[in-house]
Amino acid sequence: MRAVRCWCGELIVSDDDGALARELAAHAREAHPDDERGEDEIREHIAATAEDAPDRPPWAY
Ligand SMILES: [Zn+2]
Repeated sequence: MRAVRCWCGELIVSDDDGALARELAAHAREAHPDDERGEDEIREHIAATAEDAPDRPPWAY
């Protein structure tokens, strides 16, 4: 599992970076449609900040 935080702080978790990019893009369209970030920026954001999600992530408690 891979995890990335949206620039708004929302945590997105998915199977791999490709799925993460799709989910972050979908979240961004829904949560902040006025945001100007494009697909390339989303991919860069994931490349720079995505992490492997542990089995028992800190946010699960
Ligand atoms: Zn967001």
